[in-house]
Amino acid sequence: MVILLFGPPGCGKGTQSRFITEEMKLPAISTGAMLRDTCAGGSSLAHTIRELLAQGSLVPDDFVNEMLIHRLAQDDCRRGFLLDGHPRTVSQAEFLQNYLRHVGHAEPVVIHLDVEAAVLIARLSARRQCSLCSSIYNMQSKPPQLPGVCDFDGARLTTRTDDRVDVVRDRMTAYERLTNPVISFYAGQRYHRLDGDRAPFEISSEITNLLRERYIKASSASGNTSPARANHM
Ligand code: AMP
Repeated sequence: MVILLFGPPGCGKGTQSRFITEEMKLPAISTGAMLRDTCAGGSSLAHTIRELLAQGSLVPDDFVNEMLIHRLAQDDCRRGFLLDGHPRTVSQAEFLQNYLRHVGHAEPVVIHLDVEAAVLIARLSARRQCSLCSSIYNMQSKPPQLPGVCDFDGARLTTRTDDRVDVVRDRMTAYERLTNPVISFYAGQRYHRLDGDRAPFEISSEITNLLRERYIKASSASGNTSPARANHM
């Protein structure tokens, strides 16, 4: 099964992604996390990507698609995968659709976590990340035991550049402008918009029930449990 998880920055996609992938035994693939890894080095490519991420701008489609396809070609993606952060443009959605058809996966199940902009801005500006192990804290809902330092390794907590309020606002605006056409691209039976402003476990239970009732039972009844595998593009 291929699951696309949509939602604006800070809507809880990371938490739900971990939950769904444990439940469904699928790998979670976040293009944002992959790009953050890519921009760690000192090359000019790393520098360009770092700048784009810091501005909250999208990385060009061709680069992201190419990076993604290398990851999807790995063996752990055979049974399916969950994508967090891709597609973000209609061109990425078209690219992904061609790829999924080519390798014989069913159409993706789209889960969209819906949260109001004001709630998101408050959540994101309270978010901190460990400078060493990248653990995420939230000064409102999940503060560290000692102010400013990570519970696991004592390293300093920092605000991600792209979580600053001005950058967050830009990311929201860009998100809405670009995502609405992508959502329209997936409009149909396999698109599910869920209220994301609830306790994480309530959202997780709704997702589990939805996947079990609508997709797992249905695909076992039709005998279609794993995709035929074609050669990669
Ligand atoms: P995320 O962790 O998904 O919020 O992504 C962090 C940043 O990475 C975004 O603000 C973009 O700059 C970049 N990014 C992540 N995924 C994509 C994508 N599919 N296309 C273009 N840029 C992306």
